[in-house]
Formats: sequence, structure tokens, C-alpha cells
Amino acid sequence: MGPTEMYIDGARVGAADGRTFDTLDPATGSVLASVPRGAAADVDRAVTAARRAFDDGTWGAAVAERERSRILLRMAELVRDRFDELVELEVRDCGKPLADARGDIDEVAFMFEYYGGWATKISGDIPPVGPDAMSLVVKEPVGVCGLIVPWNYPMLMAAQKVAPALAAGCTVVLKPAEQTPLTALRMAEIAETAGVPAGVFNVVTGYGPEAGEPLLTHPAVDKISFTGSRDVGIHIQRTCAAQLKRVTLELGGKSPNIVFADADMTGAIPGTCAGVFGNQGEVCSAGSRVFVERSIYDDALAAMTAEAAAIRLGSGLDPATTMGPLVSAEQRDRVLGYVDVGRSEGAHLAFQGDVPTDPALANGYFVAPAIFEATSNDLRIAREEIFGPVMTVIPFADVDDVVRLANDTEYGLAAAIWTRDISRALRTAKAVRAGVVWINDSQPAPSESLWGGYKQSGIGRELGPYALDAYLETKQIYVNLGGR
Ligand code: ADP
Repeated sequence: MGPTEMYIDGARVGAADGRTFDTLDPATGSVLASVPRGAAADVDRAVTAARRAFDDGTWGAAVAERERSRILLRMAELVRDRFDELVELEVRDCGKPLADARGDIDEVAFMFEYYGGWATKISGDIPPVGPDAMSLVVKEPVGVCGLIVPWNYPMLMAAQKVAPALAAGCTVVLKPAEQTPLTALRMAEIAETAGVPAGVFNVVTGYGPEAGEPLLTHPAVDKISFTGSRDVGIHIQRTCAAQLKRVTLELGGKSPNIVFADADMTGAIPGTCAGVFGNQGEVCSAGSRVFVERSIYDDALAAMTAEAAAIRLGSGLDPATTMGPLVSAEQRDRVLGYVDVGRSEGAHLAFQGDVPTDPALANGYFVAPAIFEATSNDLRIAREEIFGPVMTVIPFADVDDVVRLANDTEYGLAAAIWTRDISRALRTAKAVRAGVVWINDSQPAPSESLWGGYKQSGIGRELGPYALDAYLETKQIYVNLGGR
């Protein structure tokens, strides 16, 4: 697996107290690597290094934007040079199929390229304030950022925060999820090779309450950007409020996927299924509440069942696999618990696939895709985020009915709408309270655009130019031009 030390102040180090924990291969349950179990002392070293690198001008406002840009572009190149290695590591660590991991790592490279370009284009404004003065509105890096990321897209979620933060001139401490720390450690190697100075980019591995929590309370951290569960997000906001730390939260969802009767079914059926079953359903924006117009309900359900039945579970490393194991035994048990909940709530389990029979995978954390039929949006399986391959299908009558159902949720991350009628598509898109709406597609998240949630799906936006705002402060410099 290569070195698994943390990366703090330009050095590869173990935890101060020498403790480690194992990261497992979810396809087999076997130990993949032993990784430092970071805690408050390690976070303090990393934050102190990041603070120094920010305050002494090693990075940030004192470094020419061109230099920051060149380094980020070099990181993109190095990700591409090490593409196959990173893909394999991601598959082994989080279980996803090869094709999915290729997509992730490809986007990681692009993310560094995209924000490498932005580093030289972050500018302010000069609003007119009368003849005798000049007001300059300038953008400055927010400072030291704690970046806490989840396990479903380990390297991509890390890049989604690291790239704009470095482009903006911030210094960072990255805390990968305990289930999937390995590609974050590779990212540190890549950053070092690309010329990121010591202290600018640090990685502390470990469990959330031990290695994540101290970032929230450390007085030298200016900003926390977090992607993960709603409950941890609420805890983060509450904790950060004590020091008025800036916070960006990308949380969960229970996103509606709306199929109107006039939709092109050759796109709508596979797209709907990919939106629920893709990445094993471990997707914050999964379109797991599938609303189908009543007149096509039976045909659509049959077609989605056939689509789900064609999914092939297995090790992510097998090129024939289209669904890998869930990330951990805990996650498997949680998702299977929801299948029991659905049954006991009276939903009809219309389909459930098979887990692999290969003895080599007997200890893997596989959960077969499942499709529930529900008549109500009030069931727990229609309201709570499952984060696994479980679809809940609910019929609807018309646009007003489905908009009401779609919005009847605490979440507001994403929505997918399938129809050939452009007016209806746009009317529905405007009416749905969600940060991302797809029309005749599900799940694309181009790095050039925008990501983020309404309601309890988060605070702030990522991707595109919007992500930069999360890592910038805005200052006014007022100049008296010599009037009175
Ligand atoms: P999930 O439920 O999907 O595992 P979590 O929200 O628990 O997602 O975890 C997402 C990230 O947040 C992980 O890196 C995890 O270690 C981290 N985390 C969990 N608890 C805390 C905490 N109390 N403080 C800071 N980070 C945490």
C-alpha cells in the first residue's frame, strides 16, 4: 500500500502517541493498511504549521498568484501520471467499481486544473463612491482551513475542498474519513512533489471525534469546510459558533427523482436507477425517492426492476462489477436495517437482488439493490437518508401533486426531472426547493458549475467560482483622494 504516515509540516509522521488503526478492504473485510490514529496533539502540530505558513506568507497573499497556479496545475499533471495507482487504491479502500473510481480520479485531476486556472483570476471590484475617494473591494484568503471529508468519494471530496482553498491562498489541514484515508495521503505526496511548501497542506488521519473535533475547537483555525452527515454537520456548526469560525456544510439528502408519463423511458429508466444505485447508493444526492406518474407506474416499475436485476455485484476490482460492497460493516448493517424498517412500515418490497456467492467475498459488506413501493411519502424509508442501494417508488397524479411531495422533506440537495415537455420541466425545476436540479439526467456534478443544498442539506456552495467564496474574505480599502 506504500507509506501510510500522516503529512504534517512537510514531514511524514505517525501519531504523537504512536497509535494506529486499520483501514479495511470492504470487498473482503481484510486489513488493507495500518494508519496513524491522529488526535489533538497531531491536529495542533498540523494547525500550528498551517498557521505559520499562512501568517509568514509562505502561501497566500504574499505568494504570486502565478506561482500558486503553476503548482496546482502540476498537481493535476501528477494525478494523471499516477492515475492507475490512485484508481486502484480508491477501489480497494472504499469498494466502488473501477469505472466509477476512474471517473472520480479523472475529475480530481480536472479539479486541480480548474482551480489552478482560477488562482490568477480572483479579483475584486471598484464601486464608484464619488469624485473625492476611491473604494477598492479586494478578496483575501480566509486563512487556515480545516477540511473534513467523507468516505463515499474520498479523493474527489478532498480535491473539491483542497483545490479551491489552495487557489484562494489558504493553508489547510485535511481530515479524511477513517474508513478511507489512503488517497488523501497520496494527495499529500503529490502536493509535495508539485512544490507546495511545507506547512501549507497537511493531512491528519483518524476518527472524527479524535482527529476531526480538535479542528473545530482550535483557535488558530479560521474556517471549517465539511462534507458528511447532517447530524455531524449540526454538531460542527454548533461547536464552531463558539469562536464564530466560518463554516461550509455539505450534508445529506433525500432527493426526489420525478418521472413524468411523457418522459423518454430509454433515458429515464437507466438514469433513475443509476441515480439510486450508482456508487452503491452511497451518494448524498441519490435520487432515492422515485416519483412516477400514475399512468405509467406499472410499466416503469417493471422496467426499473429489470434494470436493477441486471446490476452485477462483486469486487470493485473486477471489471464486470457494476456495484461494489458498502464501505463498512456498520454501513451495511445500517442499510439492511432500513430494509427491515421498510418492510415493517408496510411498504412492498418489489425487488431485492442477490449478494455475491464467491467465497472470496463472503466477508465483504455487500448489500443487494432493493426497490420498495410505497403509497405515502411519510414512511421512514421515504424521509430518512439511507445511503445505500434502496429505492422507494411512489406514484403521483400531476405536477402540483409531485411538487408538493418532492418538497415535503427536511432536505433540499438535489432533484431529477424526466419529461419531454420543456415548460413542465422548467416549471417543476423552479418549484423544487433544492440546490441542484437535473432535467433528463441524474447526478452529473461538473466541477465548473455549482453544488450545495437548500434546507437541512447544507450551508454554502461548492464547485465552480462559488467554492472560492468559501475560502475568501472580502475587504474594503477606502482612499481619500485629497478632497476635504
Ligand atoms: P458518515 O455518517 O457518512 O460516516 P460522518 O458525518 O460521520 O459521515 O463523517 C464524515 C466526516 O466527518 C469523517 O471524516 C468523520 O471522521 C468526520 N467526523 C465525524 N464526527 C466528527 C466530529 N465530532 N468532529 C469532526 N469531524 C467528525
